[in-house]
Amino acid sequence: MMPLMALREAALPAFCLLSGGLGAIAGSFLGVVAERVPQAVRGEEGAENLLFPGSHCAACDHSLAWWENIPLLSWCLLRGRCRCCKTAIPARLLLMEGLSALFFATTAAFAPSPLALGGLWLLWCGLLPLAVIDLRWLLLPDCLTQPLLWAGLLYHAALPQPALTDALYGAVAGYLSLWLVYWTFRLLTGREGLGYGDFKLLAALGAWCSWQALPALVMVASVSGIGAFILFRPGDKRHGHIPFGPCLALAGIIIFIAETFHFTF
Ligand SMILES: [Zn+2]
Repeated sequence: MMPLMALREAALPAFCLLSGGLGAIAGSFLGVVAERVPQAVRGEEGAENLLFPGSHCAACDHSLAWWENIPLLSWCLLRGRCRCCKTAIPARLLLMEGLSALFFATTAAFAPSPLALGGLWLLWCGLLPLAVIDLRWLLLPDCLTQPLLWAGLLYHAALPQPALTDALYGAVAGYLSLWLVYWTFRLLTGREGLGYGDFKLLAALGAWCSWQALPALVMVASVSGIGAFILFRPGDKRHGHIPFGPCLALAGIIIFIAETFHFTF
């Protein structure tokens, strides 16, 4: 692992550029995950899996040529439209590629160890599609939240003790705290304030950030949720719901970055 850090010392710009490229490719794949997993979870007819069919235009089914799959660059070459039917390619895909490239490149420059860098990238790859899917479909699929939880526990198993114990308590406490909020709210008002997916996501984030970070995590998520509510005022389409998943995801990545770089609150 150490040669990786030696390579960074020797050629920082090249290392960051390479990491950014990897981030763009990851972001492009995460875009596919965010498009196709909800189809499969909702049991839609003709739902596509992650590998087949290959990338194609959602409007006209035109299969993409190899160069149309190059993240970011193809968007510029095609000016954001399908080459055949000229339908606009969703801007969220470009945003996912761009943000991932930026995140990978920046963290590559500053991460304290290869393990920390791997953890940051893995958590990003779990949270980004979850945030996008919840934003669009009010859905946090188990097939994404559960592997994220296991990955968080495994990450801490590689760290010196008591990291794994803290992560385990974090997962349990994360789940239980929102479960309690859900049932209290439901018994008092008769309405559902949260979804089960939110408990599972907070369990995963508890595993990644440890139990000590949970109060800060929930506070950052709530503040960003209230901020989003005031800014965007969800319309009737969402029955006044603001999906909480993206707020949790944002809080999770902020807290994990802070922990990795040893910022103290
Ligand atoms: Zn098309």
